[in-house]
Amino acid sequence: MSVPDGGRPATVHGPTGPGAGERGASGTVEETDVLVVGAGFGGIGMGIRLARRGLDSFVILERAQDVGGTWRDNTYPGVACDIPSHLYSFSFRQNPDWSRVFAPGEEIQEYLRRCVREEGLTAHLRLGTDVQQVDWHDDEGRWHVRTDRGSFVARVLVLAVGRLSEPLLPRVDGLETFPGPVFHSAAWDHTADLTGARVGVVGTGASAVQVVPELARVARELVVFQRSAPYVLPRQDRAYTAAERRLFALDPDALQQSRSAMFWDAEQAFVQRLGVPAAIDALRARALGHLAERVPDPALRAALTPDYEIGCKRVLFSNDYYPALQAPHVTLEPTALARVDGTRATSVAGHGFDLDALVLATGFQSTRPPFARRVVGRHGGTLAEHWGDGMTSYASTVVHGFPNMFVIDGPNASLGHSSAIYMIETQIDYVLGALAFQGAHGQVVLEVTADAERAYTAMIDEMSRDTVWIDGGCRSWYVDEHSGRLTLLWPDFAHRFRERNATFDPAPYRLAAATASG
Ligand code: NAP
Repeated sequence: MSVPDGGRPATVHGPTGPGAGERGASGTVEETDVLVVGAGFGGIGMGIRLARRGLDSFVILERAQDVGGTWRDNTYPGVACDIPSHLYSFSFRQNPDWSRVFAPGEEIQEYLRRCVREEGLTAHLRLGTDVQQVDWHDDEGRWHVRTDRGSFVARVLVLAVGRLSEPLLPRVDGLETFPGPVFHSAAWDHTADLTGARVGVVGTGASAVQVVPELARVARELVVFQRSAPYVLPRQDRAYTAAERRLFALDPDALQQSRSAMFWDAEQAFVQRLGVPAAIDALRARALGHLAERVPDPALRAALTPDYEIGCKRVLFSNDYYPALQAPHVTLEPTALARVDGTRATSVAGHGFDLDALVLATGFQSTRPPFARRVVGRHGGTLAEHWGDGMTSYASTVVHGFPNMFVIDGPNASLGHSSAIYMIETQIDYVLGALAFQGAHGQVVLEVTADAERAYTAMIDEMSRDTVWIDGGCRSWYVDEHSGRLTLLWPDFAHRFRERNATFDPAPYRLAAATASG
């Protein structure tokens, strides 16, 4: 089921309206106070909180035909969350009905659709609307947004385009010569029948460990190309009983307690990442113990033993990944896919395999978000140029030179150990604080100073110095590969992110009067 296309616009101007010179394909220019780009968890959460505050002048643009972001796009067999669902959902829209501790992707997607319907967001949504260029007009104090379906003018821009939205495709010599289906894990080709096929999977990250056991069930042969071995811990999943679900529905306190316990358990476990040697040793021992227990063959075990410190990249959770790799028709190739020549796929180690289909579970363009190339700020440069040495921000949410713009899920707002939704909600609180401040001060234009951004960035660099993410000996998407800086991950407890970044303070901002048109 999909959410119907957006309804009534906030204001639609004909050819003579403001911004008419930039009219898009549909020839309309729609004015709105707040323009949100992206209808995943970030954009939907922002929309709900705006609507609940009675702020009605907002529009959410979404390039796809449905809401849901990562949970819409990732439909691979086995897709599920590896953060408990009671925690991986909005605190202001808890769901007593999660079927399991780790809900399947489809259930999370349905949760998001329900949020949109029941919170009255449908009229604010513009689905199938791809943003092509976003420009700040300093004389107007407005963002001008050109899409493939008309233009928008907004006072405030919220980028909620996600960090797992642009697949990263590996450069493999000859890949174009492969005659069978080749697709990324986040763009699953459901028309490809993999039953009885010889399938190659490239990558061994969070997506791969979920998809490999599923493919092993149907494929005739399965080859997993592993560039580096992940640490894998057991996944403590189970279905909730009907009685538990009834209890959660009847007693919101019980639900809240369960959620709170999950949050603080995760926070406690995080101490391992912060460089406490005994805690790191204990976590590594748990993961390697799990490997030893599940994989008796010494050669396979050696190939599956990571050569970097635990926590350097995301620790994975699975009970069926190791067993799947030991099935007689499954091969772990402990090097990356190097080249393809027709049906023949050859690894870096020179091992060749004849395959019918290739699945690229190779992750996303997270540290260099392509969307940043489309956003032009006050100085005329793009956000991508501003982030040329890696993403930077103040409060993980605002960027110098980009007035009245907020980035959800952007620089240093990601977590490896707990719920992304907690971080998103913190950022939404910050945005709402800024909007309230503007409302009380004549809609003043807010631009964080370059000094404030530099100081925040220096603080992140200092916090990440000597940590496992920088010194752990791995290559990960938490770290910008050009600058070597930790640009994606928040290098501390989640609750410290909230303490530091949930409350808007105008002090580090340059304030400019709203212009006549404002
Ligand atoms: P990922 O963690 O970035 O893993 C990508 C995998 O592809 C890695 O094993 C990587 O190898 C490999 N790879 C990338 N480029 C390659 C190349 N050119 N040649 C060979 N191998 C290559 O991506 P993901 O598994 O899609 O997960 C991304 C993120 O999505 C996760 O970290 C997580 O936050 C989220 N996710 C969450 C869940 C969940 O349950 N909550 C599920 C799936 C995904 P290296 O390790 O050597 O770099």
